[in-house]
Amino acid sequence: MRTEGDNMIGLRRQNRAAVLLSLHRYGGLSRKRLASMLHLTPAAMTKIAAELLREGLIFEDGSVPSDGAGRREITLRLADRKMSVLGVSIGLGKASVSAVRADGTVLFFETVPLPIRAPAEQTVQLLCDRLTEQIQSCRQSFGKLLGIGIAVRGVIGEDGRTVKSSFDALDTENFPICDSFEAHMGYPTVLSNNVRALLSAEMFLSRIEKPESIFFLRCGSGIGAAFSVGDEILEGDRRQCAEIGHIPVIRRGGKPCHCGKSGCLETIASPAAIREEAQAILSETETPLLFRLANGDRDAVTTALVLDAARGGDAGALKIADRAAATLSDALKSVVYLLDPGRIVLYGEIFEHPYFLSRLLSEMDVGVDAAHATPMEKSRFNLTLEEKAAALLYTIHFYRNGGMIE
Ligand SMILES: [Zn+2]
Repeated sequence: MRTEGDNMIGLRRQNRAAVLLSLHRYGGLSRKRLASMLHLTPAAMTKIAAELLREGLIFEDGSVPSDGAGRREITLRLADRKMSVLGVSIGLGKASVSAVRADGTVLFFETVPLPIRAPAEQTVQLLCDRLTEQIQSCRQSFGKLLGIGIAVRGVIGEDGRTVKSSFDALDTENFPICDSFEAHMGYPTVLSNNVRALLSAEMFLSRIEKPESIFFLRCGSGIGAAFSVGDEILEGDRRQCAEIGHIPVIRRGGKPCHCGKSGCLETIASPAAIREEAQAILSETETPLLFRLANGDRDAVTTALVLDAARGGDAGALKIADRAAATLSDALKSVVYLLDPGRIVLYGEIFEHPYFLSRLLSEMDVGVDAAHATPMEKSRFNLTLEEKAAALLYTIHFYRNGGMIE
């Protein structure tokens, strides 16, 4: 009896999820169109639509002609501007809190500085205080507040609710962060690794009809990645799938990496590595143009300035930038040959620099046959996902769960 009940609930959840996700992906659809797309009987479709309408998750929005005989069909749409979600993102030395409407429109976003190895419980308290204050002072209507999405750097525990290791962002390992936020805020909470959260948001906002596999490369202060197949983002048995930044690229004598090893890809090809290498050799003779651009001041050297100098022909800057692009492209070529992704999507400020992007794209052609040519492009949402990715984790979870809060 129990099993039968579970199956019915599971089926109901699945059908409701299919309707919500289709309305998100395609916009307004009639009951008839939805039923045919989802292989549901008209009776089942009528029942699901009535439930979702009653709960305020969808609404009826005018009618469209259904055939030549003058009949009209009512269009159903997601009420995603009348629902909102909260987001918390925790990185190294900084965090952010946000609220977005379920469709991704940002209501507020605030960054909060943190110490390295921030005390976990106090940090949750601090971020909850910021959320509460922002909610109270926000002039826009939140509608129905669904839940909280948390994105944290590092490795998520097997239960999906614990931060196993945040690589020094928080001071506590195996920290039950979802329980902690739920106790403070009283909203259901979901958790993901920060790069996977960015890819989730990219896929959600793209509304792609037939999702191809995506290898999503994020170059921030370090190098991270996430890999999706169809609608799912792979996590790996140890939840460390696609940690491309820590592939060893230098066998001996490489720079130490925060992961504890040395010679990782990140120590050569990350924006921070490019800047640090240039700072170390900054001089009138080795990096004449960069020296001039930075007024001889080591602290004024930024990654963008190094790339500007490289583009202007500065020999020292060129060597550093080109080595970074070539090393990164070698790692990506391994990805292409191993995983055969449909697309590589690049995310991060460094890809806004025309010199680095063009070097990387041209390096990708070296040593790759035509059969393995893989489209690689900058994310169409580049630099805009940080404000919404954490919060959207909860929207995605909510739709996939059929709009049911357990
Ligand atoms: Zn490393």
